[in-house]
Amino acid sequence: MRVAIFGAGYAGLGVARRLERSLPDDVELIVVDESGEHVVRHLLHRGIRYPDELAHIRLPLGLVLERATIREARVEALDHTAGVATLTDGETLSYDFGVVTLGGDPEFFGLEDVAEYATPLHRPADVDTIRDDFEAVLADGGRVVVGGGGLTGIQTAGELAALARERDASETVAVTLVEQADAVPPGFDDRLQDAVGDALESAGVECHTSTTITGATDDAVTVADGDPIRYDQFVWAGGIRGPAAQDGDRPTVPATLRLGPNAFALGDAADVVDADGTRVPPTAHAAIRQAGVAATNVARVVEHRLAPGGFEPRLERYNDDEMGWLVSVGDDAVARVGPTILSGAPANAVKTTVGAGYLTSIGAVEDAVAHVQDAVAHESARDVTPQ
Ligand SMILES: Cc1cc2nc3c(=O)[nH]c(=O)nc-3n(C[C@H](O)[C@H](O)[C@H](O)COP(=O)(O)OP(=O)(O)OC[C@H]3O[C@@H](n4cnc5c(N)ncnc54)[C@H](O)[C@@H]3O)c2cc1C
Repeated sequence: MRVAIFGAGYAGLGVARRLERSLPDDVELIVVDESGEHVVRHLLHRGIRYPDELAHIRLPLGLVLERATIREARVEALDHTAGVATLTDGETLSYDFGVVTLGGDPEFFGLEDVAEYATPLHRPADVDTIRDDFEAVLADGGRVVVGGGGLTGIQTAGELAALARERDASETVAVTLVEQADAVPPGFDDRLQDAVGDALESAGVECHTSTTITGATDDAVTVADGDPIRYDQFVWAGGIRGPAAQDGDRPTVPATLRLGPNAFALGDAADVVDADGTRVPPTAHAAIRQAGVAATNVARVVEHRLAPGGFEPRLERYNDDEMGWLVSVGDDAVARVGPTILSGAPANAVKTTVGAGYLTSIGAVEDAVAHVQDAVAHESARDVTPQ
């Protein structure tokens, strides 16, 4: 029997590491990922300012997996009924159970000119493009527009503004965050939005809320009900859609994360409805926590398939108990821990601890140590930088 996991992000790696321990030895476990590495994607924006940190958030899969077979290939299509994945160059891979954890792709909402002119922040290569383009803005002065004020947009704008300040370019470089909702991040409680708004203002990010981007030319973003916003660089963080291998769909899965008799789906690749009937936002922390439920359920259905008879196994259900939130804004951060909103040094401490805790949890202990050392070094450098 073969269990195949498609995608090794937070969701896929979390399922794989658990199944390595729980599946019987004679069940083959295979992890297919086009990049061959696990990207700690929620820290990707850090690479804009600190390119060296990317090394600690791009982990070769061989470092974090032990018994799973790693297949570095792009998934083009999945047929769960037949149990066949079509990989790059038409190769196929058969499987008895599939776990879809391919994440999402940037969503442009049909705005083709936005897709043409903007750089999304989704993969490590995007970080290099954004940093290189921003170097030109730093040199000549100008404006970078970040479209979308969710976690990705806020954190990207924060890094760009902090980099401008580090280079003494705050007077000549404008960082403008454009969001259609009336506050950022949309959908969060008022107190967190207020704290994030304050942090963005202190960082020097201009926020245009209640502003819907309708298109782009090569030097301006067009918006509904307002003048175009001229830009020298355009970064897109407007949201995600399902992966290309699912034709852009994020299929709805119930709290058991079961997509069909032979398949499970979770993380950004799926539209998860939790045990309370609530649609779960696509985030790293939801993907990490869903992985535990999915791994338990896969192990149970595999066990039942190997020794059929009796009732169908009872499956665990995912409940999206929100434990807190953490958003970085350049050198600052805002955290909600239970009912308490933190910002400044305490929030930064939480941010570093959460990042290091995640790396430790996936066995990347040296990278966790490096993550803390980087944070301390950057903090000390700020302490001696004249303001
Ligand atoms: C800059 C940035 C900041 C963010 N900040 C936060 C934050 O502060 N907090 C938070 O909770 N979330 C944050 N997020 C969102 C979070 O990163 C995602 O919700 C999370 O990565 C989803 O995890 P996942 O495992 O579903 O998918 P991913 O982490 O995207 O993993 C998908 C995997 O599938 C592989 N893959 C994709 N397509 C194919 C294919 N066709 N064939 C083979 N392999 C494929 C990829 O290589 C990747 O390894 C942020 C995202 C970004 C980009």
